[in-house]
Amino acid sequence: SLKGKNAVITGSTSGIGLAIARALAAEGVNVTLNGFGDAAAIEQERSDIETSFGVAALYSDADLTKGSECAGLIALADEKLGSVDILVNNAGVQHVAPVEEFPDDKWDLIIALNLSAAFHAIKAAVPGMKARGWGRIINTASAHALIASPFKSAYVSAKHGIAGLTKTVALETAPFGITVNAICPGYVWTPLVEKQIPDTMKARGMSEQEVKDMLLAEQPTKQFVTVEEVAALAVFLAGDNARSITGSLQQIDGGWVAK
Ligand code: NAD
Repeated sequence: SLKGKNAVITGSTSGIGLAIARALAAEGVNVTLNGFGDAAAIEQERSDIETSFGVAALYSDADLTKGSECAGLIALADEKLGSVDILVNNAGVQHVAPVEEFPDDKWDLIIALNLSAAFHAIKAAVPGMKARGWGRIINTASAHALIASPFKSAYVSAKHGIAGLTKTVALETAPFGITVNAICPGYVWTPLVEKQIPDTMKARGMSEQEVKDMLLAEQPTKQFVTVEEVAALAVFLAGDNARSITGSLQQIDGGWVAK
């Protein structure tokens, strides 16, 4: 059972990360939340997790585009909870533009947050996991870790990078009771997807409905994945029944990548 384990979930004030934090807390895991947003709303979510699930819930506003703050987030959880047994690298942003117009600062931001932050957090968390002989690292990658779409050069590059990082660290940590896996969702209805609709409309000259239809055209099920489905997969990967699953890229994409 996961009861009493301690988790850090990056980018968990919203969307997939918040759903994973709540699902782990429901299993009795103490959680450290992280991300940006309205302070009162975040505090309400934090305290609701504590009262609903009877676990400890911390919050850190660490900006994970900075390597030192990634390490600081792990150090905070280590200090306040005693260990980081489960690390979910989930924080991520998107920007949609043709490559020749892609802003340099957006490229740097996406590589820093969607790829390098996972490296820095893993580097800080692995020594404790090795010492305890148990650990779970779950990276929220994407279908875009396996295939590309136009106008998402930085995002697709970062997510392919996460796939490589997942496999490499899995090999290094396999003898120590640690597993490292990536979850590769298709389109999940979250603020991240909602926010890219206007830019996609511009880049492709489409209406809002045409963009939604295009996104779902990729997904044979014709339905958005839900955050609860992604969270359930993360909980399974964290559990002892998943001890032989490592270095894997788990598709949860309504059949998109199978096409
Ligand atoms: P979201 O926008 O709802 O959540 C993103 C989270 O990251 C928020 O908590 C936000 O505050 C946090 N964040 C942003 N900048 C940060 C920073 N500098 N430091 C720390 N935290 C920061 O998005 P989501 O859809 O839930 O995305 C979560 C992850 O899932 C991302 O890695 C994303 O690429 C991936 N993903 C999403 C989809 C989808 O369709 N929504 C599909 C595949 C993969």
